[in-house]
Amino acid sequence: MSTRAKSEHADAILVRSVDYGEADRILTLLTPTLGKVSVLARGARRSKRRFAGALEPFALLDVELSLGRSELGSLWGAQVKRAFPALLRDLARLSVAGAALELVRELLPERSPDATLFEHTVHMLQALESGQAEPMGVFLAFCVRVLALSGFAPQLTACGVCGKQPSAARSADFDPVRGCLVCQSCGGAPVRLSAALRARLQQALGPKWLASALLPWSTPELALAETAITTFIEHRIDRPVGKSGLLSSARRPPESGTPAS
Ligand SMILES: [Zn+2]
Repeated sequence: MSTRAKSEHADAILVRSVDYGEADRILTLLTPTLGKVSVLARGARRSKRRFAGALEPFALLDVELSLGRSELGSLWGAQVKRAFPALLRDLARLSVAGAALELVRELLPERSPDATLFEHTVHMLQALESGQAEPMGVFLAFCVRVLALSGFAPQLTACGVCGKQPSAARSADFDPVRGCLVCQSCGGAPVRLSAALRARLQQALGPKWLASALLPWSTPELALAETAITTFIEHRIDRPVGKSGLLSSARRPPESGTPAS
């Protein structure tokens, strides 16, 4: 069927793998140069040697692939460029990494390259590997940044109803469903963000998102940020997040999708 024309190399992160037929797999890869692509990995299940055992998630890969005009390209080779072994051994880190990659897969359109997003994704995996920060904190800051890059930034500086800007030194109410602050005169909102947490989330919107994750988190602050951001995400992406599994594994029970008051 396919000839081996125009194959090329790319850095890649595997974001989904689905068995296909008797021996093949269909993979979704995130790459900096080609964007998110789907490729057929022939014989991937029959022989581990074919792809040098490299077709595992949570690794930076070097892949050789070709993309024709059809939606499905072909994968010819794959090697692990950088592994994240400490991440793989830790359930908390694995579950947030899985949810983070799923969010990227969900938000990024096919074949729409975003080198910045790819770089952030590698940095997110590196930060989880290093263990220098709370995994949930890395996850939340990464999500906020990815949402901002995808045009879904939460509004954290002004009331979404009247436009009034709270002083940077004061706490403010955030409505994760509406995705904005709502001031007291406009009725307030269920999640009260301290000035410090608001500043931290604000920083996560920009290129220094990772620095905001690496600051120490207090447990209540982390729980509040988690409620705010996961609820916000659920209302920004089209499918029922909880049922599909995205974030459900990254989130601590009990949780019913409603923000804490
Ligand atoms: Zn207002």
